[in-house]
Amino acid sequence: MALGSFAPASIDSKRQRVIPLPRANPSMKPFNPDSSIASDVIPSPNYGDRNKGRLPDMIVLHYTGMPDVEGAIAQLCTAGTDVSAHYVVLEDGRIVQCVPEAKRAWHAGVASWAGEEDINSCSIGIEIVNRGHDWGYPEFPLRQIAAVITLCRGIMLRREVPSHRVLGHSDVAPLRKKDPGEKFPWHSLANSGVGHWVQPAPIVPGEVLRLGTISEGVRELQQALARYGYGIGTSGKYDATTREAVTAFQRHFRPARVDGIADRSTLTTLQALLAGLSAGAKAVVAR
Ligand SMILES: [Zn+2]
Repeated sequence: MALGSFAPASIDSKRQRVIPLPRANPSMKPFNPDSSIASDVIPSPNYGDRNKGRLPDMIVLHYTGMPDVEGAIAQLCTAGTDVSAHYVVLEDGRIVQCVPEAKRAWHAGVASWAGEEDINSCSIGIEIVNRGHDWGYPEFPLRQIAAVITLCRGIMLRREVPSHRVLGHSDVAPLRKKDPGEKFPWHSLANSGVGHWVQPAPIVPGEVLRLGTISEGVRELQQALARYGYGIGTSGKYDATTREAVTAFQRHFRPARVDGIADRSTLTTLQALLAGLSAGAKAVVAR
């Protein structure tokens, strides 16, 4: 009898608790979600118009970096915090929309990609609920990643976002940001057609470029990073900006070792990405 009565309880205790969402501010006008898979709308007052009518053709992925989802959504949806995002993807896969896609959400801050600095005007921002590096940085649950993939695919179709313009916050702001971080499974997204990715080259011993190096090789590295999109100068000196750009690159494309040192694997992976980018661009033109 004891066993019989315990069994269901133990199964039940393993079932994930559904986290209640914070209530939307009643003074904020609700809107229809742009994505059919967004289950809730919690409107944020923190947005403006996209500058010069710029249409979004980029997706920037973030993690919330806060201990709980309630606090994260409250921050994104409270006047005066000056931050927001178009979407929040919860750990259980639920998707909340906070800002209409047509509007300019405030998620990227000081940032740069492919010569553009007003990243908020050209992008859709997605916050993925994860406590982040300061709070233990847990793995991203599979169903959360599945939701991110489906959400991104819809946006890419509706907004004609090319795959190589699905990026991490750390890519567009390498000096300030780590999110979504090296645990984010970019390869899984790429397997579903979201984001540009190649298999990283294996890590092998050999010569490296690192902080302080001044050489033509450093200039070529900087030129390659800039060609891919990173906001970086091409002085030939491996300065702190170069180290942070390399670190951001590794978090996204070579996550097995994130140390800001340009080893052979980092350089080969970057070259492969650039080669794939030209091929991808041709494929888009041919379509
Ligand atoms: Zn971020």
